[in-house]
Amino acid sequence: MANTILNVKELNKAYGKKQVLHDINFSVAKGEVVTLLGPSGSGKSTLIRTINGLEDYQSGQIFFQGEEVVPTEKNLQKLRQKIGMVFQSYDLFPNLSVLDNITLGPVKVQKKDKKSVESEAHELLKSVGLNEFASAYPRQLSGGQKQRVAIVRALALHPEFMLFDEVTASLDPEMVRGILDIIIGLAKNDHMTMIVVTHEMNFAKQIADRVLFLENGQILEQTPADKFFSNPQTDRAKDFLESMD
Ligand code: ADP
Ligand code: MG
Repeated sequence: MANTILNVKELNKAYGKKQVLHDINFSVAKGEVVTLLGPSGSGKSTLIRTINGLEDYQSGQIFFQGEEVVPTEKNLQKLRQKIGMVFQSYDLFPNLSVLDNITLGPVKVQKKDKKSVESEAHELLKSVGLNEFASAYPRQLSGGQKQRVAIVRALALHPEFMLFDEVTASLDPEMVRGILDIIIGLAKNDHMTMIVVTHEMNFAKQIADRVLFLENGQILEQTPADKFFSNPQTDRAKDFLESMD
């Protein structure tokens, strides 16, 4: 594929004796939005975590920007500065202010100038409607606000690639839309490359260029989004889409 940024080849992953990912093969082009769909337990989070070097694997290869990611501590630290990740649980540092949560990585890990990182953090906070919360602590924020901070924290590292794993799953319904709109903006306005795991099918339809449908750790379909949603190729994907209606 032209402009491939991520390439996963023959990836196999087990937890103990339990095989969780089977021969996973796919790639993502720069600027592409891939949604990863599949029933609970199908291996979506494991795949996302493995890509970001948070899980080891038994066999296969992961290439990022043309280079194989050999999972040494040093390589993984470098990789995680290029791949931003936001989870279902926001995991902000409770003892740091919003601003410090955001600036910690760029200042301590990327060694960027503190003043300029802070001024950018304020801009980013403004863009997600949180400009007044820079000196607040995570416990003072709602779930939706915390998730906005988690997204800003990831963006402050200037990632080349974003992984979103069910980022709205633990939010109150009225908080969900705002978060999804931020992600849609990143895709449509900033052309951010991303893999998005979600149970929000309307959002998936809106944002996805391509769908990977995972079941029991296998990719059953890998299809352009319009085709997947209008005419899924496998019965399992049909059943899945019907169950999400
Ligand atoms: P999904 O995100 O699609 O719901 P997961 O990747 O979380 O699926 O889980 C895939 C499978 O791996 C499930 O059977 C789950 O029970 C198992 N699993 C996930 N994390 C662990 C772990 N840390 N140790 C053992 N098994 C795990
Ligand atoms: Mg999951």
